Amino acid sequence: MKVLPLDKLREALNIMANDAEVYVPMLRDDISGYFQWADNPADELALDLLNTYLSPKNVVIPQTEPMYKFKTSKQDVEITEVQVREGARIIFGIKACDLKALENLDMAFLTMGFEDEYYKARRQDLTIIAQACYKPGPACFCEGMGADRINPAADVLIHELENQDYAWEAKTSRGEELTAKIAALMEERDVTLPQAEPQSRKVDMTGVSEKLAEMFEHPVWDDLSSRCMNCGICTYVCPSCYCFDIQVSNRGEAGNRFRCWDSCMYREYTMMAGGHNPRDYKKERYRNRFLHKLQFFNERYGANLCTGCGRCVILCPNGVNIIEVIEKVKEVKLDA
Ligand code: SF4
Ligand code: SF4
Repeated sequence: MKVLPLDKLREALNIMANDAEVYVPMLRDDISGYFQWADNPADELALDLLNTYLSPKNVVIPQTEPMYKFKTSKQDVEITEVQVREGARIIFGIKACDLKALENLDMAFLTMGFEDEYYKARRQDLTIIAQACYKPGPACFCEGMGADRINPAADVLIHELENQDYAWEAKTSRGEELTAKIAALMEERDVTLPQAEPQSRKVDMTGVSEKLAEMFEHPVWDDLSSRCMNCGICTYVCPSCYCFDIQVSNRGEAGNRFRCWDSCMYREYTMMAGGHNPRDYKKERYRNRFLHKLQFFNERYGANLCTGCGRCVILCPNGVNIIEVIEKVKEVKLDA
């Protein structure tokens, strides 16, 4: 099997970065996330982290995306389009949960007769180097959400060996092409792949979506939402949350429009002109988050909008835990 020695990794990333934006799990300013590789000595690789604080969704949906510039003069408006950001991109070291989230984003932004041009531009020339996940973390439950953590579908699959070198398998022609560029850094070796440790968090989603369809008015949402303070952290760190707002920034007569991540946990998210708000209260926003993830998305696309990465479980400051919400929903007795 081909092996990329750990001490050749930076060189390999440099070669890849010659003709693509390469996103790698790194620690930057004490925050871990998938940041663009520039071989900065201050950037610390964080390939062992389960999971990075920030997910890789920024590769296809950056936190802010410019849309167009404008300049007004009396009754005239001059618009300058901003070029959509096409070009080759590579995600290195993505895990199965985040890869499954990328599939969710593809469904939302590229299917059902709708194509988002900004998303498509960033997604269409993306090469995926996934890392098999042999040691799940205590909050991980991706298997319950249908992810294959050892053998996810990717262009290249890497396996971290006991000595921290990477066994390297090209899975697609795109993966073969990329592998050819760094072939001189690879060695051919007999390797023993690690034993997969079991995932301790088990989640059975059977019937959950259908049951939630009967629970919109159920009083359990009062109890469940009481701990949430609508801070929005869960939605920002979630690899599959994709809601955005369109905002304007201007100085005098000139400015620009951009879109940016938003959160359904905020009251302003559903505020309408005239002041009406269909989700005025915390319970309504909380309920919407879980119904979107576990019922509405399923009804539209046949998949859950949660991939079991565990980030929200770890990072919610008030201990809201989606696994407990799922268990609670299953315990609810519906009137016959
Ligand atoms: S992170 Fe926790 S407290 Fe904050 S909005 Fe999400 S569920 Fe609510
Ligand atoms: S809802 Fe939570 S566990 Fe599920 S994918 Fe989003 S952050 Fe991960």
